[in-house]
Amino acid sequence: MPAGRRDLVGERARTVAPGDVVTYFVVRSPGTRPPDVASVRKVTQNTEPIAIRERTVDGFTREFLRELNFGQGVDLSRASVNDQYLALARTVRHYLMVRWLETLRRQYELQAKSVAYLSAEFLLGRQLDNALLASGLQDVVEEGLGNLGIDLATLRDAEVEPGLGNGGLGRLAACFVDSLATMNVPCIGYGIRYEYGIFRQTFVDGWQVEKPDNWLALGSPWEFPHPEAAVTVSFGGHTETYDDEGTERTRWVPGWSVLGVPYNYMVPGFENGRVNTLRLWSAQATRAFDLEIFNAGDYAEAVRAQTFAENISKVLYPEDSTPQGKELRLQQQYFFVACSLANFLEEVLPEDFDLRRLPERIIFQLNDTHPVIAIPELMRILVDERKWNWDDAWAVIQKVFAYTCHTLLPEALEVWSADLLGRLLPRHLEIIYRINEEFLDGVRERYPDDELRVRRMSIIAEHPERSVRMAFLATVAGTKVNGVAALHSQLLADKVLHDFSEYFPEKFTNVTNGITPRRFVRLANPGLSGLITGAIGDGWVTDLERLKELEPLADDAEFRRLFREIKTNNKHRLVDVLRERDGIELDPDTMLDVMVKRLHEYKRQTLKLLHVVSLYERITSGVLDIDKVTPRTFAFGAKAAPGYRMAKQIIGLINAVGRTINEDPAVKGRLSIAFPANYNVTLAETLIPAADLSEQISLAGKEASGTGNMKFALNGALTIGTDDGANVEIRQLVGDDHFFLFGLTEPEVADVVDAGYHPTSYYESNKTLRHALDLIASGKFSGGDRHVFEPVVANLLQEDRFLVLADFQAYLDAQDRVDAAYADTDAWTRSAVLNVARSGFFSSDRSMRDYIDRIWHTPPIDPNA
Ligand SMILES: *Cc1c(COP(=O)(O)O)cnc(C)c1O
Repeated sequence: MPAGRRDLVGERARTVAPGDVVTYFVVRSPGTRPPDVASVRKVTQNTEPIAIRERTVDGFTREFLRELNFGQGVDLSRASVNDQYLALARTVRHYLMVRWLETLRRQYELQAKSVAYLSAEFLLGRQLDNALLASGLQDVVEEGLGNLGIDLATLRDAEVEPGLGNGGLGRLAACFVDSLATMNVPCIGYGIRYEYGIFRQTFVDGWQVEKPDNWLALGSPWEFPHPEAAVTVSFGGHTETYDDEGTERTRWVPGWSVLGVPYNYMVPGFENGRVNTLRLWSAQATRAFDLEIFNAGDYAEAVRAQTFAENISKVLYPEDSTPQGKELRLQQQYFFVACSLANFLEEVLPEDFDLRRLPERIIFQLNDTHPVIAIPELMRILVDERKWNWDDAWAVIQKVFAYTCHTLLPEALEVWSADLLGRLLPRHLEIIYRINEEFLDGVRERYPDDELRVRRMSIIAEHPERSVRMAFLATVAGTKVNGVAALHSQLLADKVLHDFSEYFPEKFTNVTNGITPRRFVRLANPGLSGLITGAIGDGWVTDLERLKELEPLADDAEFRRLFREIKTNNKHRLVDVLRERDGIELDPDTMLDVMVKRLHEYKRQTLKLLHVVSLYERITSGVLDIDKVTPRTFAFGAKAAPGYRMAKQIIGLINAVGRTINEDPAVKGRLSIAFPANYNVTLAETLIPAADLSEQISLAGKEASGTGNMKFALNGALTIGTDDGANVEIRQLVGDDHFFLFGLTEPEVADVVDAGYHPTSYYESNKTLRHALDLIASGKFSGGDRHVFEPVVANLLQEDRFLVLADFQAYLDAQDRVDAAYADTDAWTRSAVLNVARSGFFSSDRSMRDYIDRIWHTPPIDPNA
């Protein structure tokens, strides 16, 4: 048996001799109930091409050319880059497919407890590179393509990233499923296959203009549609009661239905043979619906109805942290959870499964309130369809859902008007009312004379209109409620959900967010990864705490030199990307100071901008000696929700300041702004490894966690940040000497607000601040027109909800400390190395371990079992 040859199907290192037959079966739809194993084995014995088992360059090349010729239908000499990309993606897919089928087979055999991660967003980023890494095919593919005269990097760049999320929340879901696969934990991700993901941002005269993101236009080679496994989802209509052999029952008589078609995606674990499933649902018209209308002779109406149904998964709502109570959004939410529950109960579980044992097999994790309608949906299935009594159903419900809260902003807490909910999902509203009644009975019992508390805790709000508070519903029904960073979970329990944390103290827990080291270090920063692996071996990729072993190397001059060299190379890589992508010229010899995240007032991009404007103002007015100013490039990346006017104004202002500063010879070589449009995962992957300084400057008590902050620290940037979200934990771990802390703390913010905040007093008493704001108000950045940015200035002076002016001076002082630290290159690099070495905690693998221990109780599958 040749040495080193391993079976592809699992960690078990079952060696396979040439000619061996590896048996596996074809499942109808990956992740779903396979046909009878014994009978299938006979007829579907190994059809796996030998080449895929061999994983040789020759074998890969043959497979690739076969895909190009027979899959794409082109000859190599005539193949476009897209042809080559699609053929490569499909070839890589074959290698993973063997593992996927094997994972599903074993999962079905073991019937182990799984996680169903329900999320309206999965911001996956590009798939090819991750698939190559997970399958260990990188070298073989690079060599094989090279022999054909094809550059792997060119094909990589041909991939359009699926932007099926807005920002942090969707990216978190993607990191979590990656970690679970890598940790050998059974998981199905459930979400929506939006036809149009997050819009493509462009700038016209510096203003954001949104373009549709047609990510499917050139074909998506990573998805497997299963129209035969479609699920019917109903809406509208009314409910009625009937006598069921002496028991009064309710049934829902819906008004209309759509079909949910599952599209499966592979979620490969890192070099462990496991491939989990991500199942995204696409809406289609039901045939019955069509036929009825077609038969009535109204062809045009039938086609219109089809469009109506397909609208449900047409487009991702681009609001981040500020949900709009749009009917279509509620349709999307119910659509995907109804599909997912039906799929799990009817397809994934064995046919004769006793649902009373459901908690042994599944935990549904609700990523924010978007999937919370799953709670009344499962009640409806158990009580109305399976005819359970209410209390038995409720007992099961309370064990199978857990809720992750992602916010502290009151405007981000989702509520649905009872009127809308009742029209769209009449039975679900009734169920919610009953859940609420029984819950409030309990509250009254515990607090007999506290009707005020009862009203505060009601799942149903009465003002300004009757509506359902989805976070409360999730808290009442869920087995656990978690915040996403230590401070956030504390504030949830103390403030946002205080009554509930008193009532159900055992439900409240914290799981600090994390990021996957595979994508955000290993793939995004190959230079640093090589340096780390050279120093401590490659175990860190799946055990990130091992980065601690780098600590002594912070004091090693040669290591620091290499570390710096890598940072410089990453800057040069960024220079090339931004030149090509945006026509931006960036000076790699300046400090790269980066603020990338969604544009939101609470995140305070204006505070960053006031720093830049103030530097510019002080240099041009002679207050600051330009030779004493550290040369910096300020990089911004941010999309604004299309309806968020202030956010779009701020984008206009950043671009306007950028244009003025970048063209002014007075600050040439010292200050410049780079604001590439359309910040997304792909851009993050080149921008973050090049950064020197990470801007995490939200108002304390507003950012739930942040994950961008973790990506930067793990790529060797130092953070300037407030005591907010996971910044708190980053600072505690890396140490105060290696983090630039500034600004009001959360309790101080509360005090300032309670005392009555007056932004003008800061304006009047701080000359530097006044001059910066006055310069904007003067029209300096808008061709002399004072009106253009007046709303931004006026908002800061009159309202300033997020205390930008109150933190301004502290921020400037912290930036002076940054300059002083940066001047000592060796000390800076030492701090950067320590940031990497001490940030292993922020691996999403650790987050997953915490969820497993505190909430899910879904142990990893023993790969040797
Ligand atoms: C990580 C990430 C985010 C989240 O950034 P925060 O700074 O935590 O808000 C948003 N968008 C993209 C593309 C990301 O990769």
